[in-house]
Amino acid sequence: MPPSFARRATRAIQVGSVAVGGGAPVSVQSMTITKTADVEGTLAQIYALAGAGADIVRCTCNDVDAAEALARIVPRSPVPIVADIHFQYRLALAALDAGVQCLRLNPGNIRKPEHVKTVASEAKARGVPIRIGVNAGSLDPDIAERHGGATPEALVESAQRELAYLAEVDFSDVKISVKASNPALMIEAYRQLSEVTDHPLHLGVTEAGPPPQGLIKATAGIATLLSEGIGDTIRYSLTADPVEEARAGRQLLEALGLRERKGLDLIACPSCGRAEVDVIAVAKAAQAALEERNLPIQVAVMGCVVNGPGEAKSADLGIAAGRGKGHLFVRGQVERVVPEADMVAALVDEAERLVAEGVEARLAAADAGAAEEAERTRAELLDLQGDDPNAVEQRVKLIHQDLTAGTEPGR
Ligand code: SF4
Repeated sequence: MPPSFARRATRAIQVGSVAVGGGAPVSVQSMTITKTADVEGTLAQIYALAGAGADIVRCTCNDVDAAEALARIVPRSPVPIVADIHFQYRLALAALDAGVQCLRLNPGNIRKPEHVKTVASEAKARGVPIRIGVNAGSLDPDIAERHGGATPEALVESAQRELAYLAEVDFSDVKISVKASNPALMIEAYRQLSEVTDHPLHLGVTEAGPPPQGLIKATAGIATLLSEGIGDTIRYSLTADPVEEARAGRQLLEALGLRERKGLDLIACPSCGRAEVDVIAVAKAAQAALEERNLPIQVAVMGCVVNGPGEAKSADLGIAAGRGKGHLFVRGQVERVVPEADMVAALVDEAERLVAEGVEARLAAADAGAAEEAERTRAELLDLQGDDPNAVEQRVKLIHQDLTAGTEPGR
């Protein structure tokens, strides 16, 4: 057995389907850099991040359009979504209305305790956890002044003050980060924090910069703490495509023996009101059949051809259901249509060919008319299912009314 690091005991919280703390595997997070209001672009990036190893993805919720878009994104995301809130507590309430699985609040920029408590009460009612995200660059001014700057003690005090506000409304479903761009500062802050709390900790070196320096700084901070047993979830903050962040996070955990190495990488959509097939059953059958062959590719199992090929265009190969058929797609382009009953067998066959021949060759060998057939089925489904099979319009309307009329969202 290779040596492994003893982990500090923390309490468990649940971010959607992902457990954080309490001995759960250390999870990888990343953040989209699309405009959240761009629903399709953001979902495609979320899928790319999930494919690169992200277990949880954060999206900014910085205005009405972003909050409304989150209501459309959440039911179609393959991983839990955290809404990143800056300054406006009302956007946190709107994000809860949108159905996000976690909120990230920065104590340095939502200052009024009553606002923090309002958000916590609402999150509690919905069973949604909160990350207290302290940041050395935007520390509460009074705390920074008292400590003579953003010291480790100042970062820990800021987190503890926020925890106390949340405790006043009996809210403890919390994970905490105390990030800084200086790895030495961040390491010491997390060490101190882990001595005074058993809440799960989210590790990160903020604004680490572009690779390779950014990778080195982030790894110095995160790996040091993980080797001491500190940390339950991690994020690399790189000035780069966020797919690199997710990949780096995953690789670090594998290198430290904290996560298993991935061979075949199978991703599946969460299944929503558009699903045309039992996604879980198809994904399980595909996993079993493909794992035997141990092919080094990423495969996506998607519930519908309306959105599946677009959402999972970062996958090497995928299958999307619709009207009794399976639509095989390579890098988002439909290249074969098969009866639904043959979906898994066709997927395995195509996976073997893809590995043997490569993406370009398989795209060149696409069945004539497959893309058009998929497009026809897509149009039929849109006709049948309408624009809103997930019934998100009601949420969007509520968010819009509350944020534009000045009332409190959700109340
Ligand atoms: S059923 Fe379709 S729209 Fe719904 S999550 Fe799956 S691929 Fe996306």
